[in-house]
Amino acid sequence: MVVAQKHIAILGSTGSIGTQTLEVISLHPQQFKVAVLTAQSNAVLLIQQALEFLPFHVVIGDESQYSHVKQALAHLPIEVHAGAKSLEYVVCLDEVDVVLTALVGYAGLLPTVRAIEAKKPIALANKETLVVAGALIMPLAAKMGVPILPVDSEHSAIFQCLMGESHNPIEKVILTASGGPFRSWKREQLAKVTREQALKHPNWTMGAKITIDSASLMNKGLEVIEAAWLFQVKASQIDVVVHPQSIVHSLVQFQDGSIKAQLGLPDMKLPIQFALAYPNRLEVDFPRFNFAAYPNLTFEEPDMATFRNLGLAFEALDKGGNMPCILNAANEIAVAAFLADKIGFLEMSDLISETMERGTFLENPTLEDYVQSDQLSRELATQWVVNNSK
Ligand code: NAD
Ligand code: MG
Repeated sequence: MVVAQKHIAILGSTGSIGTQTLEVISLHPQQFKVAVLTAQSNAVLLIQQALEFLPFHVVIGDESQYSHVKQALAHLPIEVHAGAKSLEYVVCLDEVDVVLTALVGYAGLLPTVRAIEAKKPIALANKETLVVAGALIMPLAAKMGVPILPVDSEHSAIFQCLMGESHNPIEKVILTASGGPFRSWKREQLAKVTREQALKHPNWTMGAKITIDSASLMNKGLEVIEAAWLFQVKASQIDVVVHPQSIVHSLVQFQDGSIKAQLGLPDMKLPIQFALAYPNRLEVDFPRFNFAAYPNLTFEEPDMATFRNLGLAFEALDKGGNMPCILNAANEIAVAAFLADKIGFLEMSDLISETMERGTFLENPTLEDYVQSDQLSRELATQWVVNNSK
């Protein structure tokens, strides 16, 4: 069977997911070609990637680096753009077949909206987009007939468990969580956690923000909200179970009580490749999982009293409207403040919970409302940091 080569726009190509996506594309040059590469500030790596993969367009977010990137690529037929607005432009170009959103945080929202409006299928790594505005993104994607293919490993697992089950209602989705580096730690220990300790994840090498989110269980909270939108389930239909080995990537329970799981070694290249190649599975020689090497796959309840972020995310999902947008903005400020050593590990939850209390609730936000709500919540959260800095 001859399958047309897909042209991929990678938003955030210099990050953890972005670079692994380029590895996947290198393995399958017949199937994929890079159409667009973008980075916020790492111009050196962006230029190196552009020289290797020869995309049609590159975007450097930091406008002060535009002339540097432009000059380095001047001898090639590559258009160079700069600034956040350019992301909204490049995703819509005819040269693009699929947009893989590997940029971090709220910045993913507007480019994803524009890509869907331009009828580009989305391979979604940027979970924050659905957390902030799932209520807007999912109906828009349905209206435009655009698939949203999950890259997040848990959601890819659920998506795979649901293949062939479209007529069967979901009773529950069960998200697995590694528990992060502080699993089974108590509050007294967490109060003293340093940035360096929090940046060491036991099973995955990822960008700084998601690594801190994983340590605080906010990553799982964001994934609960992401799952609610992707699979159209209520908060009460989502369970989280801690599985430190990260082999069972997630599960779906059906109405007859039967449970399907998807398993494999923890390697983000697998869900990335699955999203890009869907509905096909491409042959690769990555190491295979061996049951005998993992005689103990263990499962336990998450400690939501100690790791409050997970409960806050469930609360935001339950409340609906712009509450997950407020939660997300407050969390982005909290993580940045923790990484800058301005607040402690446990204070991240205090900041998020207080911002949720003080933010203005909107039941049915428009896109403009989300943009404004993100901005206002950041201001509230930043003020909290100023008032409570170490
Ligand atoms: P990262 O920090 O390694 O990379 C982020 C990328 O986004 C970089 O290319 C950076 O230049 C770009 N970027 C940063 N800020 C930007 C902005 N304001 N505007 C435009 N571009 C910007 O992050 P990552 O670990 O690759 O994660 C990317 C996304 O994928 C996140 O939403 C994360 O939650 C999700 N995700 C990551 C993993 C993983 O294993 N790393 C797994 C599942 C989901
Ligand atoms: Mg995940």
